[in-house]
This record gives sequence, C-alpha cells and structure tokens, in this order.
Amino acid sequence: MSDCLFCKIIAGEIPSKLVYQDDVCVAFNDISPQAPTHVLIVPREHFDSLDKAEKHQKETLGHLLLTAADIARDKNFAADGYRVVINTNRDGGQTVYHLHVHLLAGRPFIFPPG
Ligand code: 5GP
Ligand code: ZN
Repeated sequence: MSDCLFCKIIAGEIPSKLVYQDDVCVAFNDISPQAPTHVLIVPREHFDSLDKAEKHQKETLGHLLLTAADIARDKNFAADGYRVVINTNRDGGQTVYHLHVHLLAGRPFIFPPG
C-alpha cells in the first residue's frame, strides 16, 4: 500500500519512535499521545481495519494483543493497568486505515469511553 501512512512508517520512509519490532508487527509511539504512554502496534501486513480482517489473520491479531501485553510488562505498567483500543471505521473513530492497536497507560481511563 504505497499511499498508506503506517506502511511508510514500517518501511522507514517516515520517521517514528520505535518501541518494538518483530517479523509480524512494529510498535512505535503515537505522534499525538493521549496518555503518558501511547504506543501503536501495527501489523507489517497491511489490512485496512478490524472490519476487513479475515480468518487467516487470526494469528496476526492475537500476536498484536500479546505484544501489547509484553510491552506493558516490559515497561512496568502492567500491574497498574492499561487500555488497549482498536478504533474501527467512522463511528469507531478510526483515522488511519491500516489496522492498529492503541496501547495507552500512565493514567486512569474511564469506561465507557467518549
Ligand atoms: P486511529 O484514529 O486511526 O485509531 O489512530 C491513528 C493514530 O495515528 C492517531 O492516534 C494519530 O495520532 C496517529 N498518527 C497519525 N499520524 C501519525 C504519524 O505520522 N506518526 C505517528 N507516530 N502517529 C501518527
Ligand atoms: Zn498500510
């Protein structure tokens, strides 16, 4: 996806503050953090949204969540707690159409979110 912002970040064409990477995903700091920690965990494989995810992407989706949990433990905020979010389509507040997991921490979060 040559015109996709997150594909360009994954390819290193747009700079980002890398937090973690492996064969399946890349994690980097959000440019507009909504909490003291705000990391985006993005699959290397482009798919637009959770709405567009298919059965063969089951392992990738699980990997993103387990990566969020690993980062939370590595950064020592797992016990205090954190919020994992996948905004999906217009009403879900999605703005970048390359699926990504938000990992937010460092303050309490209310529920339901606004
Ligand atoms: P969404 O609204 O699609 O759930 O999340 C997209 C996120 O990408 C937003 O939180 C936004 O701040 C972040 N973002 C947008 N452009 C950039 C960028 O160029 N670099 C980084 N690191 N994050 C970005
Ligand atoms: Zn992409």
